[in-house]
Amino acid sequence: MHPILILPGDGIGPEVTREARRVLETVAGAAGIPLGFEESEIGGASIDKHGTPLSDEALEKARRSRAVLLGAVGGPKWDAMPVDTRPERGLLRIRKELGLFANLRPAHVFPALASASTLRPEVVEGIDLLVVRELTGGIYFGEPRGQAIVDGRREARNTMVYDEVEIARIARVAFESARRRRREVTHVHKANVLEVSQLWMQVVEEVAKDFPDVELHHQLVDSMAMLLLREPAAYDVIVTGNLFGDILSDEAAMITGSLGMLPSASLGEGGVGLYEPVHGSAPDIAGEDKANPLAAILSAAMLLEHSLDAPEAAATIRTAVEQVLGDGHRTADLVAADSGETAIGCREMGDRVLEKIGAA
Ligand code: NAD
Repeated sequence: MHPILILPGDGIGPEVTREARRVLETVAGAAGIPLGFEESEIGGASIDKHGTPLSDEALEKARRSRAVLLGAVGGPKWDAMPVDTRPERGLLRIRKELGLFANLRPAHVFPALASASTLRPEVVEGIDLLVVRELTGGIYFGEPRGQAIVDGRREARNTMVYDEVEIARIARVAFESARRRRREVTHVHKANVLEVSQLWMQVVEEVAKDFPDVELHHQLVDSMAMLLLREPAAYDVIVTGNLFGDILSDEAAMITGSLGMLPSASLGEGGVGLYEPVHGSAPDIAGEDKANPLAAILSAAMLLEHSLDAPEAAATIRTAVEQVLGDGHRTADLVAADSGETAIGCREMGDRVLEKIGAA
């Protein structure tokens, strides 16, 4: 039995995770993968119940699970709280405590939604890439850092630092992910000016020797930013450090269109994976059955693939989502203003995906 912890969180979090759980239970059941579910609070819901955005009990449950499926946190009710006690702190704590060093963000264009992109349909067609970003090192955490007055002037510094162990473990995640995909890794760097990138080049090359079946390319980050707009469909897995990954993962995601469609996974050394939609708690539509549950449902597909080694079950979910969209079903966020289409609710979108899975 694989223990799965659901942390619905706030706003639309409970609505979208409910649909994701139904889909996960159904697909895992059909594939003969035994799952045991537990639920707990995170974010504002946890503040209201336990006085803290992530209780020690919830963290302990997370540590004991195989994977965590999270909704979203935050909302106006807790906005006036001091920064270090707000709902978002729960997210930062769980990521840190579980040692989640790898963030995986797929950018996939469902044919039925190709027109939602700001790029031309022929450029967008066939995009199916995965950005693997190092999450716990690099310039966001390096020391020394801070502001100072030097020679009477204000000065600020941050330090980009990586060691070979940090680079090798994220490179492995990228190569292993590529093995489940088109077997191509593009390492993104700035080795023409940064010593840190030169070390990344060396270590990524060393790790690549263990994956002779995966093709490796290196690409400068500035060219990569342009190439992602020019020929995004040409890329499979992109691996990079924290700073470049932060920017490129958002660029790649937005090429595909809607926020309600974007899943993510964060993987760590302890073996627990955390899966969550990229979107927030959408307080403006919370409780109205208007949320798009597909990002959460696609996060459940990532859970099956990365934590339960069940790529076929994951593919069943993705195919079902593709078919539902192909049939023309849309939640409100996917309905173009002048299209005349009518929107379905969060629950009904979950039903439609389940119907397709049943028919598969
Ligand atoms: P948001 O992602 O919650 O919403 C932005 C816009 O997109 C809103 O109009 C919302 O209605 C819409 N939207 C988002 N997800 C949707 C979905 N699944 N279906 C349909 N529409 C969707 O971002 P925001 O408004 O900047 O933040 C709202 C709250 O969420 C804040 O408290 C913020 O701190 C929090 N937040 C949490 C996370 C997280 O939990 N990972 C991420 C971002 C923001």
